[in-house]
Amino acid sequence: MTESTPPLSRRALLTGLGALAMPGVARAQHGSAHVVVVGGGFGGATAARHLRLQMPGLRITLIEPAARHYTCAFSSLYLAGLRDWESLGHGFEALRAMDIAVVHAAAVDVDAVARTITLSDGQRLVWDKLVLSPGVDMRWGELEGYDAQASMYAPHAWSAGAQTRLLRDQLHAMPDGGTFAMVIPATPYRCPPGPYERAALVAHYFRARKPKSRILLLDAKNEFSKKPLFLQGWKALYGDMIDWRSLDHDGQVVRVDARRREVETAAGALHRADVLNVIAPQKAGWIAERAGLTDASGWVPVHPENFAARQQAHVHVIGDASQAAPMPKSGASANSQGRLVAAAISAELLGQEAPQAVYTNTCYSLIGPEYGISVAGVYRAKNDTMEEVPAAVGISPLDAQPWFRAAEARYGTAWYQAISADTWGN
Ligand SMILES: Cc1cc2nc3c(=O)[nH]c(=O)nc-3n(C[C@H](O)[C@H](O)[C@H](O)COP(=O)(O)OP(=O)(O)OC[C@H]3O[C@@H](n4cnc5c(N)ncnc54)[C@H](O)[C@@H]3O)c2cc1C
Repeated sequence: MTESTPPLSRRALLTGLGALAMPGVARAQHGSAHVVVVGGGFGGATAARHLRLQMPGLRITLIEPAARHYTCAFSSLYLAGLRDWESLGHGFEALRAMDIAVVHAAAVDVDAVARTITLSDGQRLVWDKLVLSPGVDMRWGELEGYDAQASMYAPHAWSAGAQTRLLRDQLHAMPDGGTFAMVIPATPYRCPPGPYERAALVAHYFRARKPKSRILLLDAKNEFSKKPLFLQGWKALYGDMIDWRSLDHDGQVVRVDARRREVETAAGALHRADVLNVIAPQKAGWIAERAGLTDASGWVPVHPENFAARQQAHVHVIGDASQAAPMPKSGASANSQGRLVAAAISAELLGQEAPQAVYTNTCYSLIGPEYGISVAGVYRAKNDTMEEVPAAVGISPLDAQPWFRAAEARYGTAWYQAISADTWGN
């Protein structure tokens, strides 16, 4: 305020006092509030883009080390040779064109009290609101013998990039008649149906190129998302090629020897593979832990009405890193959470009523290029917990006709295009 500023009215004074208590509100009203978003994947890019759509004058910075984000979603099509690598990549040009500052660096520290964030390039930014969507990290060593070094021999391929390409190269180099084994963790982990879709699409590839090969799934649980649909689809398209072992049937792996591509199960059985894919147990991306937001589970507890971290009200944690069960950890969930958080932050900064906390998840899985299945759910915050709206659950029917499965496969492709446009603007 300058000396020539006219005396404040009672209303302006009250607004000003409120603003003093909430500096972000004051700065938003003067057009200089700063929201920093960490992570340019499904959650973070959506939050940044939707914040801009809601608040044209807001200062928004997106921190993401990679020049392009490659999605895990649809990466199994890449493994199967049904999609090329670049079709999974999304640049940040459209976000920059919306006047979002995109900084290619990693966030290395967060001070939630001083509201600062330190980046790997040495910059320190001051924020009014922080959104973290760093995805997952592997819990190295939780499964005996499986650490970062071991993943060079037995890739997890559960973060898209070099790991996905390594797994594809191994699958393509595998001789016909070989065994592809996958180690599947207990929940919670990123993309509950992902391992089963991956098995199906690798089977599609084997059927065409390496028909004598087999797929062994060693699972640490008995139940999984869309299980009856997967079992039916696997059988219909690939006969007995996929051998799924549940927790109760010798599925739990307790030790990995990645160099020898061997695993040992709780029952003491030893399985040898030609290509070994170990989907390790996971936790929230490292920066969430560094910011002091995770609990003993390794994930970030949040208030479901706006995904504010329970530990820090001005830090919103969305996507896989958050604990939002029964919402699954999916790109669709992260996108839905990113939209809601953008609406909640802009409402708060503008002094408006908070949006109704309703979220959606739609998950398509391809069992073959012309065989799709899906599940959809609606979730809402109630009494500070997240609940699924029972009447809104939708799942593909069993025993559907081929035209129905083919239509769902097409809807899946359309879903990927639509969510990519909504997230990265391309
Ligand atoms: C095989 C597979 C198939 C899948 N298929 C589907 C599907 O069909 N549909 C679906 O909805 N979901 C699918 N998913 C799940 C989906 O990929 C994730 O749920 C989604 O990516 C979560 O979004 P996110 O924003 O939490 O994390 P991500 O999309 O992983 O984004 C995290 C970003 O944060 C960045 N980052 C991490 N740490 C830092 C840091 N310190 N500083 C700055 N940036 C950082 C990373 O570089 C990354 O770009 C699949 C997953 C897998 C593994």
